[in-house]
Amino acid sequence: MKLEGGCYCGALRYVAEGEPRMKAQCHCRECQYITGGGPNLFMLMPQEGFAYTKGAPKLFTRSDLDQPVTREFCAECGTHIVTRRPGLPLVVLKIGTLDEPALFEGPRMAIYTIDKQSFHAIPEGLPSFERLPSR
Ligand SMILES: [Zn+2]
Ligand SMILES: [Zn+2]
Repeated sequence: MKLEGGCYCGALRYVAEGEPRMKAQCHCRECQYITGGGPNLFMLMPQEGFAYTKGAPKLFTRSDLDQPVTREFCAECGTHIVTRRPGLPLVVLKIGTLDEPALFEGPRMAIYTIDKQSFHAIPEGLPSFERLPSR
């Protein structure tokens, strides 16, 4: 599939091509900062199929962690677009940045429920994991 999207102000635009590897909602504490408090809805897309077609993101990587992720966001409006993890050939793409978020079709699992807040909802029957599913 070929997905297109961008940030809230339009300074960043991207294409993401390929098959999604995972569609999920993440309840981790870090994601709560980024979403506004709820779980973060994302899909993993192949890194080679992802490219910015307009603008360049600002990057943020924590310096106090061993294997920190790098978060890419719009320097103008602050919209967080993707996260990259060292050694993972995938980007973690935020669903809210898609031109057509409906293409997501919903999460297939809930992860990091160890950090779940009491006001977070998990759809009935959705597989959920304290951290990540084992491979
Ligand atoms: Zn923007
Ligand atoms: Zn998370």
